Amino acid sequence: KLSMRLERVATYIPKGSVLADIGSDHAYLPCYAVQKGISAKAIAGEVVEGPFQSAKKQVKQTELEDQIDVRLGNGLDVLVSDEATCITIAGMGGILISAILENGKDKLGAVTRLVLQPNVGSNMVRQWLLENDWELVNEEILEEDGKIYEILIAERGLPAKPYANHAESALLFGPFLMEERHEVFLKKWKLEKEHWQRIIREMDEKSQNAATNSKRQELMNQLQKLEEVLGI
Ligand code: SAM
Repeated sequence: KLSMRLERVATYIPKGSVLADIGSDHAYLPCYAVQKGISAKAIAGEVVEGPFQSAKKQVKQTELEDQIDVRLGNGLDVLVSDEATCITIAGMGGILISAILENGKDKLGAVTRLVLQPNVGSNMVRQWLLENDWELVNEEILEEDGKIYEILIAERGLPAKPYANHAESALLFGPFLMEERHEVFLKKWKLEKEHWQRIIREMDEKSQNAATNSKRQELMNQLQKLEEVLGI
């Protein structure tokens, strides 16, 4: 059975799309998308041999070899230009997701939608989208097995008004998420707050000149943003 996290990712794949799932591991997501009739054709990309073999095995077991191509390679290198119309990248850090998109810009020609699920660092993904004329069109947050996940959905286009106010905060919290204020979202940032406060306390215990420490300053700024923007 597919995790709720990947099931939610799948709901944002446009029907009829040619899907490229990058960092596919067991290829659960492309298998599900094809079985559900969301995608007629999919590519599962993996850079590591073990997961690549798992993906091949899964596709074989589900008898989807005609519809799903499993390819070994780094990021979007596994794609031919204008092949995929939807790209999913899930279960990695935001820095890695942004790097994969940045290094594979030439493979995005036919892509109309990106569905990205960073485990951490979603602000890096939002930043990349903003700088590369991908409009964030929706966001979702969910909790599964005690972990909190964000899903970012983007389409080609100029960044729209969600960034107009509180631009910096919107990158950090997510323009849609901060408006929706879902209970999981509030929980996430309360946990972050406690985490940041703990780090600051530890810094202060260790260091004499804590006030001039730039990392500390950054955390203080973020705490202030939490209070100003989210009221946490
Ligand atoms: N996408 C699946 C999910 O969400 O459940 C698997 C997530 S798994 C934690 C991350 C996978 O991404 C690993 O299998 C890893 O080998 C793969 N990966 C990491 N960097 C990659 C890259 N540059 N190109 C392709 N795959 C990559």
